[in-house]
Amino acid sequence: MIILNNISKWYGHFQVLTECSTQVNKGEVVVVCGPSGSGKSTLIKTVNGLEPVQQGSITVNDTEVTSKKTNLAKLRSQVGMVFQHFELFPHLTIIQNLVLAQVKVLKRDEAVARQKGLKLLERVGLSAHANKYPGQLSGGQQQRVAIARALCMDPVAMLFDEPTSALDPEMINEVLDVMVELANEGMTMMVVTHEMGFARNVANRVIFMDEGRIIEDVNKEAFFSNPKSERARDFLAKIL
Ligand code: ADP
Ligand code: MG
Repeated sequence: MIILNNISKWYGHFQVLTECSTQVNKGEVVVVCGPSGSGKSTLIKTVNGLEPVQQGSITVNDTEVTSKKTNLAKLRSQVGMVFQHFELFPHLTIIQNLVLAQVKVLKRDEAVARQKGLKLLERVGLSAHANKYPGQLSGGQQQRVAIARALCMDPVAMLFDEPTSALDPEMINEVLDVMVELANEGMTMMVVTHEMGFARNVANRVIFMDEGRIIEDVNKEAFFSNPKSERARDFLAKIL
């Protein structure tokens, strides 16, 4: 579903990604972890073309992201992305937030988009809040809306960049629960997170990054029981 083939990226003279390769199969959940500044956000943003790369190639669902001919707007509608900060439109109600891209990008009929939005709100347990504004919801609720909004586009894969790290502790689980459910339903997911409980429960593989390189890319059992690199061992010792 997602193929990163030897990608490298620079910001000016600073090399942020060095020869990163990995592959995420349909239905797989891959957790990306590593120290702050190791390039996790940059890596995940390359997948839907939010960050261009200077070397290597990226393919998502048989579309070459790195090709100049690719319609990036269309690709991004097929690859849902959820960030640390919820990024809902504050001046639109929750249901309007869910309808907007469906109508604008997918050209869905407004009534159809609304139905879809309400269905997904129900799925994340927020039906009662359809007509509220984002500011009236808690952080955890807003993040669940952000997930529902991405799902409205019928994505082929979902990317998450530390979706729970800006939340108060008591709200983390309500967001992780939605993500676990999504994983169990077979969604292809790449998830940058330090929530190792989530990784242990639902990840198929763990990618560990350090200084812009993928240092480990192994199944989760191997990662937790016997990390190959000293750096991954240090990292785990600090966060577990
Ligand atoms: P992580 O998500 O693992 O914390 P990032 O991908 O955000 O790491 O950043 C990796 C490195 O690239 C960091 O050293 C960061 O300072 C640098 N970086 C990130 N974005 C930019 C940018 N737009 N311009 C220059 N350097 C950047
Ligand atoms: Mg980051």
